[in-house]
Amino acid sequence: MASTARVDLDGNQIKPMTICMIGAGGFIGSHLCEKILTETPHKVLALDVYNDKIKHLLEPDSLQWKERIQFHRLNIKQDSRLEGLIKMADLTINLAAICTPADYNTRPLDTIYSNFIDALPVVKYCSENNKRLIHFSTCEVYGKTIGSFLPKDNPLRQDSEYFVLTEDASPCIFGPIEKQRWSYACAKQLIERLIYAEGAENGLQFTIVRPFNWIGPRMDFIPGIDGPSEGVPRVLACFSNNLLRGEPLKLVDGGISQRTFVYIKDAIEAVLLMIENPHRANGHIFNVGNPQNEVTVRQLAEMMTQVYSKVSGEPSLEVPTIDVSSKEFYGEGYDDSDKRIPDMTIINRQLGWNPKTSLWDLLESTLTYQHRTYAEAIKKSIAKPVAN
Ligand code: NAD
Ligand code: UDP
Repeated sequence: MASTARVDLDGNQIKPMTICMIGAGGFIGSHLCEKILTETPHKVLALDVYNDKIKHLLEPDSLQWKERIQFHRLNIKQDSRLEGLIKMADLTINLAAICTPADYNTRPLDTIYSNFIDALPVVKYCSENNKRLIHFSTCEVYGKTIGSFLPKDNPLRQDSEYFVLTEDASPCIFGPIEKQRWSYACAKQLIERLIYAEGAENGLQFTIVRPFNWIGPRMDFIPGIDGPSEGVPRVLACFSNNLLRGEPLKLVDGGISQRTFVYIKDAIEAVLLMIENPHRANGHIFNVGNPQNEVTVRQLAEMMTQVYSKVSGEPSLEVPTIDVSSKEFYGEGYDDSDKRIPDMTIINRQLGWNPKTSLWDLLESTLTYQHRTYAEAIKKSIAKPVAN
């Protein structure tokens, strides 16, 4: 249970606070709510359109933290309650966004509105009411690495100066406008610039978080089970879905892009440090990722296949992967980030945070969850006769 004698990184007692969490019903929000309720005395005003992923924290009524969480079903696009809820809180955390790559080139308007326009009132209300804001941006604001523009055999491609992504030094490099993939990154970049400017001109106390592929239980949905059959979630859920159905994993454009994956539970520790150490977190942009866990998407597919076989007890497919073009998989206007290694200097210096969990371990616990949660439902859906 939460102790009231918690201290921050400078040894000062942490006072209980009220946190307005927008997008609390999503993947990151659900883990953050869980952490706050189980390990701190803080209160959460949880705002979202959905609450399926936090139902276990809201029901039954007898839960020990029931006085410390309130769910408000609302859409921040149009709801007059938003300002009042921000005013009631000491801190606002904004997680709400459309953030699945399959939407960026197929629903660019919704993507831009969600990531820029809809976030504007949140920034405005925080600034006008002198409330602290932690805003979730993305590692995608870096776009492509400088090294990706060098010839394939150029030795400078191996030089970290050409690929490590640093908050206060790296440029943001996006593709042309017709590559609508970058609509998300561009909208996130502009809201970052607006928040930064509110800080510089109007004194807004802000922290910007750039997550680098946080993964774990409750991420996205399994198509046809707890999401639309035709929906395309992020890679963890796409590959989990293939493994659960005994289908080959689809490698987009050869699976050569590289990513670093961090376990959601490690990343949430970083967010809690930001929440409870405002003097160290305000005014900063933080990369939150695990530079040790780098793989190509093909290597990720191979590792997930091995791990899934271990946790499910089922043999791996003889042909575990198939190649698919990005045009076929995502449609026109897709493009990709080549490589994402976060520089950890700023988060280390300000908050002393480091990720702990290896890629194998985080996949083992996540795929154990996926198997336990979905295997039966998938079996039933496969066994169901198809309606004429
Ligand atoms: P998610 O989709 O699981 O959660 C987002 C939540 O916001 C959803 O529950 C959704 O219903 C809610 N939401 C969206 N629009 C809303 C609106 N208008 N009103 C009310 N609620 C609304 O995504 P997530 O992975 O938890 O990501 C949270 C944030 O972190 C996003 O801003 C995303 O861009 C950023 N991010 C996440 C990752 C990652 O690795 N998971 C990577 C980069 C950036
Ligand atoms: N990807 C893939 N097969 C899939 C889903 C995704 O090869 O079934 C690739 C995608 O093209 C990208 C990487 O996996 O290179 C990570 O995709 P994700 O959707 O997780 O988001 P991103 O890291 O690009 O924001």
